[in-house]
Amino acid sequence: MQNITPGSRERVLVVGAGIGGVATAVALAQQGFEVDVVEITESTRQSIFGVGIIQPSNALRALDVIGAKDACLEIGFAAPAWGRKEDAQGNVLFEMPGAPIEGYPPMNGVTRPELHRILLERAAQEGVAVRYSTTFTSIDDRGESVRVECSDGSAADYAVVVGADGVGSTVREQVLHAELRPTYIGQSAFRVNIPRLSGIDRIILQEGEAGMAGVVPIGPELAYFFLNVPWPDRSVRPTREELPGLLRGYLAEFGGLTGEIRDHHIHDDSDIVLRPEEGMIAPAPWHTGRVVLIGDAVHAVPPHLGQGAAQAIEDGVVLAEELAAADLASGASVAAALASYTERRYERCKLIVETCIGIGRYEIGTDPAFDHVGETQRTMEAMVAPL
Ligand SMILES: Cc1cc2nc3c(=O)[nH]c(=O)nc-3n(C[C@H](O)[C@H](O)[C@H](O)COP(=O)(O)OP(=O)(O)OC[C@H]3O[C@@H](n4cnc5c(N)ncnc54)[C@H](O)[C@@H]3O)c2cc1C
Repeated sequence: MQNITPGSRERVLVVGAGIGGVATAVALAQQGFEVDVVEITESTRQSIFGVGIIQPSNALRALDVIGAKDACLEIGFAAPAWGRKEDAQGNVLFEMPGAPIEGYPPMNGVTRPELHRILLERAAQEGVAVRYSTTFTSIDDRGESVRVECSDGSAADYAVVVGADGVGSTVREQVLHAELRPTYIGQSAFRVNIPRLSGIDRIILQEGEAGMAGVVPIGPELAYFFLNVPWPDRSVRPTREELPGLLRGYLAEFGGLTGEIRDHHIHDDSDIVLRPEEGMIAPAPWHTGRVVLIGDAVHAVPPHLGQGAAQAIEDGVVLAEELAAADLASGASVAAALASYTERRYERCKLIVETCIGIGRYEIGTDPAFDHVGETQRTMEAMVAPL
């Protein structure tokens, strides 16, 4: 077994090179840590689900800390307002201004591969090494450090191990209750890329009987369309070939923009994704000893507010700040830093998860009294608060 000799700087291992893992690695490297990242897939292309990413103001503020905001704004589409809600025929019901933070637009849309490219470039600039096709085979917290053995035959001692391995995290089993899993919220979402048609300059929702349709600009020429529908049994998965016809059927009642998209931009060969929505907020604290969790591993965020990645990036920024202020040689100091990290993050993430679950219930009709527009605005305003 290859034995990696500890460097002079404090070493941290990040498990998972998703949005949260790479952002956390950059934040830690900026604070002077020596950071290794292991990623189980051959390349992050294989782990990128979905089509686009909504970046609310608070995501841009966190990306600014890690030097990735400008590149996102350059390639994305910065919206003048968060969005608008219309009825199924395209009549405006509500304007949704969002809650911009000074210096940042209310929302920027990007494609997922571009966001990953930007984050990986920042990681390379900070000297972070990502080892693909690699995972941990054992994590042994020995008190003064954590011994990690990996599937590539390497072994090393780390001051801290960060589990950023997403919604199906296996690091989580070492930190929290082994049975903890996200809950399916009874809703699934169709998503498909479309051209950025005229008028798509913000998130535009259209509420119909079948579900909540919407468009999101994710670049100068590109947008994505989605439809959130009640889907009681998540094990029912239509084939790829069935999805275009199924989606067009759901959209039969719609006029306005959604009607135009149905008639002209959903084709038999369209690359449509149908994704079940899940929610979870793990109980605090989010660490045991020197092993800590970030991102979807501790808060699976349904997509209604575009906040899942935002929260994962914010986790990384806060964790890096707390560890930078700690004495990593001291187990007590690490414990205090990790406890402080959860304390700063828990209520914020809980609010996001609970609001999204509430919006999901409203959309599938199990909580029609839920104030969709008001709760969206209130929750976005809460995200303006400093980290
Ligand atoms: C369809 C869809 C649309 C979304 N839209 C938005 C949006 O608009 N805005 C937004 O902010 N969020 C959105 N989200 C949520 C967002 O994608 C997630 O919250 C975010 O990716 C979480 O980042 P993460 O790093 O915690 O997890 P992930 O991005 O899932 O990354 C986890 C990584 O860990 C790797 N991994 C897993 N197990 C191991 C292992 N044992 N060893 C090594 N590596 C491992 C995985 O391969 C993966 O690369 C959306 C999610 C979905 C599914």
